[in-house]
Amino acid sequence: MTTQQPKLIDTHAHLDGSQFNQDREETIARAHESGISKILTVGCDLESSQSSIDLAAKHKDIYAAVGIHPHDSAKCNETAIDRLREMQKQPKVVAIGEIGLDFFRNLAPRDKQREAFRRQIRLAKEVGKPIIVHDRDAHDEVLQMLREENAASVGGVLHCFSGDLKMARACIELGFYLSFPGTITYPKNEEVRDIVRAISIDRMLVETDCPYLSPQKFRGKRNEPAYVRYTAEKIAEVKSLSIEDVARVTSRNAFDLFGIGDVNQSTQIAYKIRDSLYLNITNRCTNTCIFCAKFDDFVVKGHELKLDHEPDIEELKSAIGDPGQYEEVVFCGYGEPLLKLDLVIELSRWLKKQGVKVRINTDGQANMVYGRNILPELTGLVDAISVSLNAPDRESYQKLCQSKFVDGGYQAVKEFLVLAKDCIPEVVASAVTYPGVDIDACRRVASELGVEFRVREYQEVG
Ligand SMILES: [Zn+2]
Repeated sequence: MTTQQPKLIDTHAHLDGSQFNQDREETIARAHESGISKILTVGCDLESSQSSIDLAAKHKDIYAAVGIHPHDSAKCNETAIDRLREMQKQPKVVAIGEIGLDFFRNLAPRDKQREAFRRQIRLAKEVGKPIIVHDRDAHDEVLQMLREENAASVGGVLHCFSGDLKMARACIELGFYLSFPGTITYPKNEEVRDIVRAISIDRMLVETDCPYLSPQKFRGKRNEPAYVRYTAEKIAEVKSLSIEDVARVTSRNAFDLFGIGDVNQSTQIAYKIRDSLYLNITNRCTNTCIFCAKFDDFVVKGHELKLDHEPDIEELKSAIGDPGQYEEVVFCGYGEPLLKLDLVIELSRWLKKQGVKVRINTDGQANMVYGRNILPELTGLVDAISVSLNAPDRESYQKLCQSKFVDGGYQAVKEFLVLAKDCIPEVVASAVTYPGVDIDACRRVASELGVEFRVREYQEVG
């Protein structure tokens, strides 16, 4: 049973803590049994950094970070930095941390904290390893320091993220990840759940920070890596994803940041998100949307979508398997599906025969591509179509989406939406919450056209 649980990575644990002295091996074994594939155990001073390295040396699936916690900043002198520099050479040390500022408990003078943080960021840059940042009641200064020191060049994570949404967005903009612990399960913690709801899972990690911060179910008791599952389940609930989605994406993120774990890097032509199956049939597109350039790694929700060839119908059928197991099948992928109109029609017919709901996500310019109204050809085959409107007017559309039909592109999208109503039961215009996009104005255009409107979170594909 246990082996079928989706694999999670606990990216922040303190396994060297004395709280584990009686049962450390059993704790690690329990983590394995409950599907925790990797654990990153994090140092707080020189001694615990060394203990973390020792644990990593002993266990295949444990990795270490070395650093001096803000509470111990007073000890972060030149000699200590030299020691860390030596320590991080150990093969399983994947980050410098935890480092940062703690203006809540103020266990070290603030000046010492700033100095220690700065020195360790510089060390991380020197050795080319990401940082694990502790920030408590020091949000503005932490951000400022990350900027001043150009910490983005090595990247890292704000662990136990406790800032507001503005801070979250600023950190993501800098290229940092945000990590969430078991506190997300506390009934009163709606604020952190709002942040999780608002930001992309592509920038999230999960952690326990054990032995501290137990999830609600074990509140007041010692925390341990196996409990990272409760955090992942809560994120899934908040973001309306499956636990498999959360596991796949956060593990991918941990791999991208720390180089730990295994990810499936083979191209997916049919991939699952929630209970929907998405089909990736072409990487070609009629637009070159500027927000799309952000996904230049071709990875969507942890799925690799860069095609080396466009799949034919037989390949797609075999990748789909039994379509009846999905709530709907969506032509989406990393490109414009209606560029493969014949394939869409043929495959939709096959899917409809089996009673499966079919949806198309499109940029709405197919009638320009074919020089005719193609929508009647989809009648009876497609249940829903979602058209990217993205802008309230021609100029802003062209700026954002860079249609190859230039000025004709936007008008074509609007006409497509209107014509679609005659042929497809459910027609939705969508817009991405990209900076500068006037969502309310887009909503008004959709209502003038007489179609539903949906907002897509920027950086939330699928
Ligand atoms: Zn910690």
